[in-house]
Amino acid sequence: MAKLKAVFFDMDGVLYDSMKNHVTTWVESFKRSGIDFPPEEAYMNEGRTGSGTISRVYSKYKQRKATEKEINDIYTEKVRLMSQMPKPEIFPGMQELIKRLNKEGIQSWIVTGSRQPSLIYKLKKDFDVMPERVISGHDVKKGNPDPEPYLIALQRSGLKKEECIVVENAPLGIRSAKCAGLYTIAVNTGILKNENLIESGADELFQNSVELSVRLFSLASDDVSKDR
Ligand code: MG
Repeated sequence: MAKLKAVFFDMDGVLYDSMKNHVTTWVESFKRSGIDFPPEEAYMNEGRTGSGTISRVYSKYKQRKATEKEINDIYTEKVRLMSQMPKPEIFPGMQELIKRLNKEGIQSWIVTGSRQPSLIYKLKKDFDVMPERVISGHDVKKGNPDPEPYLIALQRSGLKKEECIVVENAPLGIRSAKCAGLYTIAVNTGILKNENLIESGADELFQNSVELSVRLFSLASDDVSKDR
């Protein structure tokens, strides 16, 4: 493994404690269409595009395809409910971690399937990450679990796979990163079992942002080649 040059961070559930809001608003939006959507499934679908999630839920629970209008209506309702949710907290230690990486000359990129403007626009202020280093739901056609989002990050950074690592909290995001050929560290900040993240291919797993920070500090500090 080469010297670490960049970390690709997922956003929801890694930088911000925002998954609870997504889960609450997904469950509520589907309820209004007569679908009882379990919170665990919201976590398992994390990282999919909005329309991708709605299509899959309709196939599973209504045994038919969602119409264009249904997809639009549910997603519009979800976005509306999201705007009423409390602002999510930043996970402990994540701001310090990104600052430290920057000091060590390691780039931080954000790779997220999200299109939520409320958080995407805060990344510069909260983490000092430039918009050029943010790949969002607006940049992708397929989204997770396709490797597309992480391949875009690789291409834009101009770095080699061996010089980058990914931090993800969601099974589909881990699969996407692994399909892109990247070393992937999982952090289990949600309600899923560790096995869900390991089975998706995570190379390492931590239980919270503090444990994760300690590991990344050590990777950033010196020669990482023997650690990975
Ligand atoms: Mg996430």
